[in-house]
Amino acid sequence: MTSSPIDGPEPLRVAIVGAGPAGFYAADALLKAGAAVDVFELLPAPFGLLRYGVAPDHQNIKKAGVAFERTAKHPAFRYFGNVPVGTALSIDELRADYDQVLVAIGASTDRKLGIPGEDLAGSVAATSFVGWYNAHPDFVAEHFDLSAQRVVIVGMGNVAMDVTRLLVKSPDALAGTDIARDALSVLRQSRVREVVLLGRRGPAQAAFDQGELADIAELDGVEVVVEGAPVEEPNHEHSVGAKRNLEYLATLPRVPSGNAERVVRLWFCSAPSALVADDSGQRVRAIEIERTELVRRSDGSVSARGTGQKELLEAGMVVRSIGYQAKPLEGLPFDAKASVIPNFGGRVGRPGEALPGCYVVGWIKRGPVGLLGSNKQDARETVDAMLEDRDHALSSRGSRQPFRVLEGLRARGIRPVTYADWLEIDERERARGAEIGKIREKFATVAEMLAALDGA
Ligand code: NAP
Repeated sequence: MTSSPIDGPEPLRVAIVGAGPAGFYAADALLKAGAAVDVFELLPAPFGLLRYGVAPDHQNIKKAGVAFERTAKHPAFRYFGNVPVGTALSIDELRADYDQVLVAIGASTDRKLGIPGEDLAGSVAATSFVGWYNAHPDFVAEHFDLSAQRVVIVGMGNVAMDVTRLLVKSPDALAGTDIARDALSVLRQSRVREVVLLGRRGPAQAAFDQGELADIAELDGVEVVVEGAPVEEPNHEHSVGAKRNLEYLATLPRVPSGNAERVVRLWFCSAPSALVADDSGQRVRAIEIERTELVRRSDGSVSARGTGQKELLEAGMVVRSIGYQAKPLEGLPFDAKASVIPNFGGRVGRPGEALPGCYVVGWIKRGPVGLLGSNKQDARETVDAMLEDRDHALSSRGSRQPFRVLEGLRARGIRPVTYADWLEIDERERARGAEIGKIREKFATVAEMLAALDGA
């Protein structure tokens, strides 16, 4: 445990809800401005999508965690994992006990396609698949059937790229990472030979980054093929990312050579219209795909319109990778359509109607878009607003007593995981990994993590 940051009257006392990258970048900026920061996290382990979202073969991205570990060493930083804010500890209680509350809970669930057959077995969310291979306690027990030759992925963002790569990469190349043990053994048994990605719009509108696709195309034994729509020449209307994608896509074959061990087919201008069940009526057997055409809207954006031309494609698993969706947090407003807590520049509410002392950062503030680093700039904006409001927050502190966090939580039957506890879990995971040639062997359930702390 670090020393208590909430003894003196002077530092701004901030509670941050959520210990992912956005929460950590904000904590760092707040600590540098002299605030005392308590971070509350639902799971025992910190770092959010850095631990549970970034793919296990992207360890270079995970190095961002070194900066977060540095932040956590600050004497005015405290961490309380395994604390469900919104249920066991309410936002109102945090608001009563801290000068400011910053919500950084991200977007933890998946979006639905809204097409017939979506609830069949074998129709899965990319968010679950990602959680599964990353040993997220909520998803580690999921079962993914990789016994069929073909998987179809709906969506062409970077998450779709991660899922595709994990499906076509040699499991030997994943074995030394921190991939979940069970996921690795299922991938070793996988019979998947073809992954078809559906992009409802064209190559110029693809949401992936060129480097992510190139990482797949460069894998041994893997061929990436572009189908469904011509790859247009880049022009001045295209963003830098779109130009890069178009130039790269133009170098890829249009027809499978028939020689590759595994094929990834990018089907542009192809939207799912239904999932079709097998004879049992329970499991997905095929996906119905409608060809689309591109339509330019009056604002210049490009959308997809169905042409009525449909075809069936057999698939053993259909993964919807169409973005994340945030969940509401009890005690705060929520805009379900935009998947955010309504805010202006990080202040919760609307201009002139801000909810005093409440702020947001990261995906719950701006929606589920952007790379890890985007959170740094985002945190700067919110923290600037918090510091602007600092004097008001301190002057309205009144008789507010610092929340006796540890005692308060234990009295509610919650076993908070402090940062020192986390370091112990971290060490145990690394040691477990070292024994079997992995970077780390994650504890896959909350119970296992807590048991590790209690000497089991
Ligand atoms: P995303 O980038 O928003 O991509 C979502 C994809 O789903 C798009 O291709 C979108 O097509 C499609 N889609 C949405 N609704 C659909 C529907 N109803 N039917 C068919 N297709 C639909 O989301 P994401 O891949 O989940 O990624 C989230 C964020 O995390 C992104 O900013 C991403 O860059 C980032 N990320 C980065 C990395 C990395 O750097 N390695 C890894 C993972 C994630 P339209 O464009 O037509 O809507």
